[in-house]
Amino acid sequence: MTDCLFCRIVARESPADIEYEDDAVLGFADIYPKAPVHVLIVPKQHVTSIQTMTPADVDAIGRCLLAARTLGERKGFGERGYRVVVNCGPEGGQVVAHVHFHFLAGRRGSG
Ligand code: 5GP
Ligand code: ZN
Repeated sequence: MTDCLFCRIVARESPADIEYEDDAVLGFADIYPKAPVHVLIVPKQHVTSIQTMTPADVDAIGRCLLAARTLGERKGFGERGYRVVVNCGPEGGQVVAHVHFHFLAGRRGSG
């Protein structure tokens, strides 16, 4: 079993409320939401952070942004808008070492 929390969620070895899934990406509700809608969008393939990504990870990272777009449309925020945030490294506030996009919506300046 992997010691990466988000890889375990992707593998369904740890529970999460799944909000979005395709072949490359999983989106699930943040356990401590900072906005009315707070979804974490992760590549299924393990990428530690933006700071360690390589050209081989570009597709997986780009697919996360496409997933944010789809999620925004599905949840009715396409026109209203939302924030997509990536924390990177200790001083950037990254706690979980599997790259993730915070999708925040439902309030002006969400999060
Ligand atoms: P970071 O600070 O690394 O950018 O964001 C990590 C996020 O993961 C935080 O917003 C935190 O609330 C969320 N989180 C931490 N542990 C879990 C968990 O076990 N399940 C879920 N769904 N979210 C988690
Ligand atoms: Zn991982």
